[in-house]
Amino acid sequence: MFQYFSSLKNSIVSLLGFFISLLLINEFQSFWLVKINLIEQVIYGLLAVTVVLSSYFNRSRLALSAALFLLFYLNLSNVLPWSKWLSAQNDWLTLSLASMLPILSLVKDRGLVSIHGLYRIVLLVMVGLGCYYWLSIQTDVSAKLTNFPLLVGYLKYVSLDLPLLLCGLLLIWQTLREKSLVTTALFSSYVIWLGDYYQLILLPWSVLLTLITLHYLVVVLVDSYLFAYRDELTTLPSRRALNQLALALGRKYTLAMLDIDHFKKFNDTYGHDIGDQVLKLVASKLAQVKGGGKVFRYGGEEFTIVFSGKTPEQALPLLEAVRQAVQDYKVVIRQPQRKTKKARSGKSGSDIKTVSVTISIGVAARVDKLNFEQTLKSADQALYRAKKSGRNKVSQ
Ligand code: GH3
Ligand code: MG
Ligand code: MG
Repeated sequence: MFQYFSSLKNSIVSLLGFFISLLLINEFQSFWLVKINLIEQVIYGLLAVTVVLSSYFNRSRLALSAALFLLFYLNLSNVLPWSKWLSAQNDWLTLSLASMLPILSLVKDRGLVSIHGLYRIVLLVMVGLGCYYWLSIQTDVSAKLTNFPLLVGYLKYVSLDLPLLLCGLLLIWQTLREKSLVTTALFSSYVIWLGDYYQLILLPWSVLLTLITLHYLVVVLVDSYLFAYRDELTTLPSRRALNQLALALGRKYTLAMLDIDHFKKFNDTYGHDIGDQVLKLVASKLAQVKGGGKVFRYGGEEFTIVFSGKTPEQALPLLEAVRQAVQDYKVVIRQPQRKTKKARSGKSGSDIKTVSVTISIGVAARVDKLNFEQTLKSADQALYRAKKSGRNKVSQ
C-alpha cells in the first residue's frame, strides 16, 4: 500500500500544483487581466510549441491533446471556415473532447509523425463520429428508457452527463493505474474542460489554455529528466544521477557498494522475470535506508548508497539494518503449475512459494586526497572482502 502511494506521489504533486495554480489565477485576476490581449495572441504559439515539443520528446498523447485544444481555440476565435457551424454543436463538441481525453489515456505514446500517429488520429476521428451518432439517437434512447419507470426522472442526464461521468471515471482509473504524469495531465485537462462546461470555472479560455500548455510542458520536461536520471526497472536514481551527485558532494561522506549474493544462480533457478521482480523489491527495501542515505542503481544487481556528511561509524548501523531487512524479506513467487498429484487435485492454479535473497555491503569513507572514483573503488574492495568472508555481511 505504501509503495502504491509513493509511486503515485509524482502524479499527486503534479495535480496539486496544477490546481493551486488554477486557484492563484482565479484569485489574482487583476494581474493578468491587463495583459489579456497579449495572452490571447501568444496562446496560439504556445499551443503550437507544445504540440511540437511534446511530439519531439515522444509524449505524443500530450501533443495530440494540445492539437485538439488548438483546434478548439481556433474554432472559438471563428477563424476556421466551419467555426460557426461547429460552435452551434456545443453538446457534440463537449462530449467529443471529453471522450478523446480518456481514449488518449488508454493508448501508448508512440511517434506522432508515423503510422502510429495516423492510427491515433483515425481513432480520435472515430470517437468524434461515435459521439455524433450517440447524440443523434437520443430520441430513440429516451423512448426505450421510458419503459423503465425508475429511470424516467434521470432521462435528461443520459445523453451527456452520464457519458461525461463515465469518461471522468475512466480517466481517474487510468491515472491511478498508470501513475504517469501524462495521464495526470490529461486528467487535469479534463477537469478544466468540464469545469468550463458546467460553469464551475469562469476564466477565459486563453488563460485556461495557458495553464494547460504550461502543465504539459512541465510534464515533458520532468518526464525527460526522470527518463535520463532514473533507472526504469527499479525507479531508483541511475548511475548518471550518482555521477551528478558526486560533483556536488562536500569533503566528508561515506559510500557503500551493495551487491546481491549469488544472483546469477537465482536467475538460473527462478528465471529472469522473477529475478527482475526481486531486484525491484530489494531496491524498494534499500530505498528505505535511514539517516539521509541516497540510493542509486549502480548497474546490474549492484547498488550504491551515499551518506553525505557521515562517517562509516555512523553509516554502519544503518547499513546493517538494510542488510537485515533484505535478509528478512520473503518474496512470494508463483511458479507455473506443475503436473503434481496435489496440483491435479485442483487446489490451486499455481505453486506459491517464498524465496529470499541476501546482500553483501562494502563501506568506505572519503579520506584525504581521494576523489569520488577512488572512494568508490575502496568501497568496492570492501565489498569484495564481504563476499570472500561468506556473503550477507557488511565490511569496511
Ligand atoms: P556474487 O554473490 O558473487 O555477487 O554472485 P552473483 O551471481 O550475484 O554475481 P555475478 O556478478 O556473477 O552475477 C550477477 C548476475 O546478476 C548476472 C545477471 O544474471 C544478474 N543481473 C544483472 N542485472 C540484472 C537484471 O536487471 N535483471 C535480472 N533478472 N538479473 C540481472
Ligand atoms: Mg555483481
Ligand atoms: Mg551479485
